[in-house]
Amino acid sequence: MWRFNYFFIFLLFPIFCFSQSTYSLKSDVYLITSANDSKSKEWANYTYNQFEQQSLEKNIIYSTSVENASYKDAKKNNGIYLVLDPNLAYDYCIEKTSTKISLKVKNEKTSKWIINQLLAVLSKTDHRFSSHNLLPAIIDFKTDCINFDFSYREPHFYYNLQKNNAAILNTNNVETDWGLWGHNLHKIITKKPPTLYAEVNHKRLPQQFCFSSVSLYQQTLNYIVNNYGNGKKVTYRFMIMPNDNKLVCTCKHCLSLGNTTSNATPAVTYFIKKLAERFPNHHFFTSAYLTTKTPPKEKLTKNIGVMISTIELPKGIALNEQQTPSRNFIKQVNAWKEKTENIYLWDYAANFDDYLTPIPVLYALQEQLRFFKKFAIKGVFLNANGYDYASFDDLKTFISAALMLNTEVNIDNLIKAFFQKEYPENHALLTNYYLSLEKNFKAKRKKYPLYGGIREILNTYLDATAFTQFYKDLEKIIPKTTGNEKEKLKKLFTALSYTRLQIGYALEDKPLGFLIKNNTQTTIKPRTKQWLASLKAYKNYPELKNYKEADGALPVYCEAWETNLLNTPYKNFLINTKIELLSEADESFKTTRLLNNGILGFASDYHQGWYINSIGNMVLKFTTLTLQQAKTIKLRFLMHEKHKFYPPKKIELYIDDVLKESKLKENLIIENGVAIYTINLNFSGTENVKLKFIQKELGKSSIACDEIQIF
Ligand SMILES: [Zn+2]
Repeated sequence: MWRFNYFFIFLLFPIFCFSQSTYSLKSDVYLITSANDSKSKEWANYTYNQFEQQSLEKNIIYSTSVENASYKDAKKNNGIYLVLDPNLAYDYCIEKTSTKISLKVKNEKTSKWIINQLLAVLSKTDHRFSSHNLLPAIIDFKTDCINFDFSYREPHFYYNLQKNNAAILNTNNVETDWGLWGHNLHKIITKKPPTLYAEVNHKRLPQQFCFSSVSLYQQTLNYIVNNYGNGKKVTYRFMIMPNDNKLVCTCKHCLSLGNTTSNATPAVTYFIKKLAERFPNHHFFTSAYLTTKTPPKEKLTKNIGVMISTIELPKGIALNEQQTPSRNFIKQVNAWKEKTENIYLWDYAANFDDYLTPIPVLYALQEQLRFFKKFAIKGVFLNANGYDYASFDDLKTFISAALMLNTEVNIDNLIKAFFQKEYPENHALLTNYYLSLEKNFKAKRKKYPLYGGIREILNTYLDATAFTQFYKDLEKIIPKTTGNEKEKLKKLFTALSYTRLQIGYALEDKPLGFLIKNNTQTTIKPRTKQWLASLKAYKNYPELKNYKEADGALPVYCEAWETNLLNTPYKNFLINTKIELLSEADESFKTTRLLNNGILGFASDYHQGWYINSIGNMVLKFTTLTLQQAKTIKLRFLMHEKHKFYPPKKIELYIDDVLKESKLKENLIIENGVAIYTINLNFSGTENVKLKFIQKELGKSSIACDEIQIF
């Protein structure tokens, strides 16, 4: 018996501690009062309305600013005292006494956020308040004064961009916080005198701006005044970036400012400083990117900052100060820190080639944000799926928003609380699966690819068996689920049907694959059509149109399945024959299996089924002893200029080491971004064949071939 008691005490202890900190918030009635200034009074009104909105009972909320008969009785009870003070030294302060809780905040945004937090905590103990529409609280209202870990916080997920969510999460949002973003300066220009543009080798080039141009300054100034005012009422941020190329203006004026052929910082700084001086209430940002990588010589004013990219840092693991990418990053940050205290990071939290497959980004984000905090980074733009849906997008927004406020929040507890609140009928299934993703990936200590296809995904963050089980479980529970939760899970299931197809594609004829191989012929497993039909429900969701950042249209993806893969049986005499590579192989393409696995590639995606060679001319050899009946060889090559994929300029075919065919580029047929060569041949009585693919331009082009088809 004593043993039971022993455990009992330890079990109770943490629960007791937790409830004690929130218990005294509960009261019979609530009296909302505020400091006497207009901002605090306005906040008190907002608070009163929010409390009323969540209250299931009448006459329990009173406010000095709202006339109310029972106000005197309310005075005896717990009071909520509010102060909104822009000069507060902290983001917020909480002071709790036995009868009163006093909340002080620095700005309006935090004032609204903290009231939502308070209601979320209160609704747990006082059931006269509904918790409807409230996300779980991330603070526990102990007496303390707190500064958020980052002052600009943007988790660039789809959920953060939805109406009101940035206010609830206390995050920023490109749509509402910035008057100019990225390489968009060209969009605000209407008048185009020649001197607007950069002078390069004594010629004005419209691809780049001259940042000492009077017209460029005047047009930018007009744009700001007309669209965002002088910043006294609402402050905006403006990112001033040269166009996305390496051209730098070396006109007389820009040269005198200090520009060189590779450094545009002097003129860009001159331009930004003029704007910052003209609009002291707005904020202006330069970027440490291409021609503006070098910090300026002079110290920048308080309303100027810099955006630094973290693209060189590994993603998905803790950062180590001793490793080269981290050392370079610290060096860069320190150099800028001498010039400005406003350093924002352009960080990343997605695989931009696959938004739909669940990627665990949160554990590592916590580690990396701690690292950034240590180097006094002020703001984080966490680039992710943005305007497109991603699986677990809502959870990731919620947790990363919390981490940017306080890097020390307990992620596991918040994940559990989020799913309990948002998916009450199936929270256990979702919590278990998502947490297992994070934990398993953390144990691997691998970085995740920012641009990775399914094979890299399976080698890093996704366990095919666990995913498939989760997918099946989800399919089972959706019909039993009700209301909004059912709708959200249907959308998740639709997105995950993409992943199910991808796993099927990558695992070929293995148990989780989509294919049945029968000697030199393949057919598909009937389930494949169901996965595709489930994915096609994307049509019901405007935000679910792409599976990746660029060229990821789901209609195109689905069509590739239908035209290339579902039309079976597919025949290729080469399927069971070993193909030997006689030339050098790219790192991820040591085996040539993709060239005769019986699966065609996707013209829209170089990760899908293509055997890639970027090193040099590719030479392949295989026996013809099993191909004596063959009459034709068909080769498909990916064409994609942006990624430098071109068909070979020449193909040489050697039979028993004698050159038989030399196909030139002119002989190919082009169909939907794929170049197809067809060669008629006769292997009868021969022993082997050698294929040599001559690259378009050595070192500047790659060859991607999906299948050597022989029939
Ligand atoms: Zn110039």
